[in-house]
Amino acid sequence: RVSTTTTALSPQNVKPLLESIEAFLFDCDGVIWKGDKLIEGVPQTLELLRSQGKKLIFVTNNSTKSRKQYANKFLKLGLTVTEDEIFSSSFAAAMYLKINGFPQDKKVYVIGEEGILEELALAGYTGLGGPEDGKKSVQLKPNCLFEHDKSVGAVVVGLDQYINYYKLQYGTLCIRENPGCLFIATNRDAVGHMTDLQEWPGAGCMVAAVCGTTQKEPIVVGKPSTFMMDFLLKKFKVDTSKMCMVGDRLDTDILFGQNAGCKTLLVLSGVTSLSDLKDPWNTIHPDYYTSKLADLIELLEQ
Ligand code: PLP
Ligand code: CA
Repeated sequence: RVSTTTTALSPQNVKPLLESIEAFLFDCDGVIWKGDKLIEGVPQTLELLRSQGKKLIFVTNNSTKSRKQYANKFLKLGLTVTEDEIFSSSFAAAMYLKINGFPQDKKVYVIGEEGILEELALAGYTGLGGPEDGKKSVQLKPNCLFEHDKSVGAVVVGLDQYINYYKLQYGTLCIRENPGCLFIATNRDAVGHMTDLQEWPGAGCMVAAVCGTTQKEPIVVGKPSTFMMDFLLKKFKVDTSKMCMVGDRLDTDILFGQNAGCKTLLVLSGVTSLSDLKDPWNTIHPDYYTSKLADLIELLEQ
């Protein structure tokens, strides 16, 4: 059930939509916050939805933080959200390894940040690389061999502000020299709101670098892949026709919801504009669109 047209959220259709939904899945950046700034009307909207008994689930492709770090971010912004309501692509990477029986005695090389290392450690895995290797450099001299740990069985790539030639060589050797080594991408977002006013290069370019050196395609665990959805559906056991995915990106959030049969709502408070949505080349059509999350309650009052 994927819609071919998109309806503007209105005072007439918002009530039946709310009544038909048991769980809301919220993308974070562009819906809840922009960088570190809360989007207008979010606290009141979440409060109202909670008071109506809706389940609220937060799904972010930004792998730089762990679930615990996200719970702190929510708290700092004045929102009470628990760790078990948060699904970050950093957590998804660790869960992918766990669910697929990745052995605890194998190591994981990380081209990414603290969030991935923290989730790996919580899942009982030894992570190498991360910000620490951002300080290292390579010696391009004759007879100089770049060494890597042969017990690495997976390379996880996410957004990495500290990416360098050292890490690219390390991750590449792990994958190229061990045919069984897993290549996992947290997400492939082109850009992300690292700050509120601007978009910055996203994990997509770090992932593309490793695709380039290895000529391999990664297993993607973040949106729009179905991995995170399957994982959270096992936990929350809600019929997907009674779920609504709210997001600001068509190719990650809306597709993620549609792939699972959820209703979808695009908010224009993030990266997608009305003209992007209406572009004749756009093939992803959410069920509804509106300017911001708080319209869910503001339209109800009209
Ligand atoms: N990746 C990076 C690096 C980001 O900065 C962001 C947003 O800030 C995202 C991904 C997308 O996050 P979300 O899925 O919460 O929109
Ligand atoms: Ca987003």
